[in-house]
Amino acid sequence: MDIKKIDNRLKSYNEASGVISYYNNSKIKLNEYGEYEEKIDNTTILNGISPNYTDITNEDEISKELYGNLDGIFYDKRIGYYKSLYVGHVAEGNYRKNASSGGVGTWIFKELFERNLIDGVIHVKQTSGDVDKLFSYQISKSIEEIQDGAKTKYYPVELSEVLEIVRNTPGRYAIIGIPSFIYALRLLSKKDAIIGERIKYMIGLICGHQKSSTFADFMGWQLGFKPGNMTYINFRKKLPGRRSSDYGIEVHGYIDGKYTEKISPTSELLGQDWGQGWFRVFASDYTDDVFNETADLVLGDAWLPGYTDDSDGNNVVIVRNEAIDEIIKESLKNGNLNFDDTDADTIFKSQSSGYRHLYQELPYRLYKRDKEEMKRPKKRVEASEDIQPKRRKIQDIREDISINSHIYFKEAVEKGDLQYFIDKMMPLSNQYYQLYRKTLLRRVMGKLKRVLSSRKIL
Ligand SMILES: Cc1cc2nc3c(=O)[nH]c(=O)nc-3n(C[C@H](O)[C@H](O)[C@H](O)COP(=O)(O)OP(=O)(O)OC[C@H]3O[C@@H](n4cnc5c(N)ncnc54)[C@H](O)[C@@H]3O)c2cc1C
Repeated sequence: MDIKKIDNRLKSYNEASGVISYYNNSKIKLNEYGEYEEKIDNTTILNGISPNYTDITNEDEISKELYGNLDGIFYDKRIGYYKSLYVGHVAEGNYRKNASSGGVGTWIFKELFERNLIDGVIHVKQTSGDVDKLFSYQISKSIEEIQDGAKTKYYPVELSEVLEIVRNTPGRYAIIGIPSFIYALRLLSKKDAIIGERIKYMIGLICGHQKSSTFADFMGWQLGFKPGNMTYINFRKKLPGRRSSDYGIEVHGYIDGKYTEKISPTSELLGQDWGQGWFRVFASDYTDDVFNETADLVLGDAWLPGYTDDSDGNNVVIVRNEAIDEIIKESLKNGNLNFDDTDADTIFKSQSSGYRHLYQELPYRLYKRDKEEMKRPKKRVEASEDIQPKRRKIQDIREDISINSHIYFKEAVEKGDLQYFIDKMMPLSNQYYQLYRKTLLRRVMGKLKRVLSSRKIL
């Protein structure tokens, strides 16, 4: 694939958080690929507001400023600063039941609110009555409203509207976001005293990559809901009796004019292999911040042996902020949380594939852009082609899959033909599986050879 010939909108390095649109007072909009697009101007670049368009500072420096001098703080090169590390779930109420993983993402806001440490929560909720934009950042100001925002939304969202409300409405806020969004907010806080002062707590999610809104459309379409006819989607339906990683999708909407509700395990749907990256947003591949290094508390899925067997789900938890550390320690004592202490290696292992793609193999993606003489962001890793040849091929095919998925899906919608999209994507997907199969076979053969030669059979 000649990336130079691709529509420029599909190779933007802007994570499109809406922070730039808020800062330079411009409009941000969803384009026909289902990705947010915003205008980047020179003042914004010079003021260092955008993570990928400035090299004034980086996540190492900002996290050091925030947490480097705290008492009892630890540092791990892979996961950043931390005061405490855990794996577990919320024991009180229905927080875990109603959540994607262990429920800490909703529970922590409830705690901050009940303890009168904040007046509002900025998080992602369903947008009522809008089928073109199913989810958006909204502000919750009661426990019920906070609980209503639970669950992971694999959907594009942006911050410009809520930041405007924060600017115009005095109060203390907590916010949740993926790594590039939290980092963008940290950069903005340096230039915008009102935002810096009012957003008191930043909660971070781990994020393998961002999806375009067409990911949701594709899931719905496979279940019979044509694009535009879906009114609700739950990307993380817990399926009792299955592993937590074997979750389902629930979709509501209209099929042939009739209101319908459907649930399917994701394992029975195409485009759910996160390694392949169908509908991946290009900018997602240019963050090297896997563990949301500038967030006060970081939450992810405990994709770990001993935890995935439990269909109810568990979180991996990285605590950086002192007040949050205290709240968690108190709640462990009173039984509201059910956490196991853990270490940096275990937290890292829960995201080892994501880390390999996002951080360890980013040098190769940067190398490719340099070779094509394409402008690209300065990252904490240097460009290099020095990864195993097989991994280079995997990186190449992942790029083909994600870019082509946007193009072919747009064409399929125009043609009204889902099968067209599937027929275009399957050869790419099969190429990817072939590569993985060969790698696996080679690994098994290598191991066999080593065992036989150690027993002097070979
Ligand atoms: C795009 C994306 C990719 C992710 N990739 C990974 C991954 O690779 N590995 C991993 O371990 N975890 C990943 N996560 C995080 C994981 O899916 C869970 O959200 C996390 O474990 C918290 O679960 P919980 O049960 O504690 O949260 P819940 O109690 O279910 O609460 C979730 C909170 O997150 C907010 N939220 C939901 N969607 C978004 C969004 N798009 N942007 C900002 N806030 C949002 C909700 O409003 C709510 O406040 C990802 C999340 C997203 C949004």
